Amino acid sequence: MGKIIIAIDGFSSTGKSTLAKQIAKHLGYVYVDTGAMYRAVALYAMQNNYIGTDFFDKEKLINSLPSIRLHFVFNSELGFAEMYLNDVNVETKIRTLEVSSFVSAVAAISEVRSKLVEQQQEMGAAKGIVMDGRDIGTVVFPKAELKIFMTAGADTRAQRRFDELQAKGDLVSYEEVLKNVVERDYIDTHRDDSPLVIADDAVEIDNSYLDRKEQFDVVLELVNEAINTL
Ligand code: C5P
Repeated sequence: MGKIIIAIDGFSSTGKSTLAKQIAKHLGYVYVDTGAMYRAVALYAMQNNYIGTDFFDKEKLINSLPSIRLHFVFNSELGFAEMYLNDVNVETKIRTLEVSSFVSAVAAISEVRSKLVEQQQEMGAAKGIVMDGRDIGTVVFPKAELKIFMTAGADTRAQRRFDELQAKGDLVSYEEVLKNVVERDYIDTHRDDSPLVIADDAVEIDNSYLDRKEQFDVVLELVNEAINTL
């Protein structure tokens, strides 16, 4: 059977990665979490003191880009690929609220984007891939056979992210998480390079009132249609 590219874009904490993982597993496709790549670059900037609460040395980060190596390694126990930054597994470190608070500023830099987009396009060259992010259907794979755009209310999204962080023992408040979700939405939709917009041919799914199973069923139908029209 022919393979397709499935692009899943949308706002922060809309459950894109949960859906993308389910679909990839069902189809035997590769899943790529592009947010993890931007988070790893943000972590690198933090570790090297290029970014902090009141400073951001963009030039230093841009000059260091050639020494930032990103790759994914599939973890069969977890059932998904984990993010490696210069050969170190950073999967846990990139999921903190601190990284979330810097990542959108880092992702707004064109030099960062072009490096990551090139790597993402190589990963999808053979198709059979589910990729989630903010610009997958618009910039990375504008010809993807299926494009999904996910939305949900900010409160619902913040609650989901808050529950996730709490479960991991991260001591954050709901208000902090909501503030971060709203801030990232703003930066991601207002940046000059590849802002978060819905592609003309994307199917929009508001999952505020859909559970995981309902959402999966809706998307699986779209996937089957796309494969059948190849
Ligand atoms: O998907 P996730 O919330 O982990 O993404 C973290 C951040 O990385 C987003 O808020 C956005 O600023 C950036 N990002 C991006 N383009 C992508 C994926 C993520 O700009 N394709």
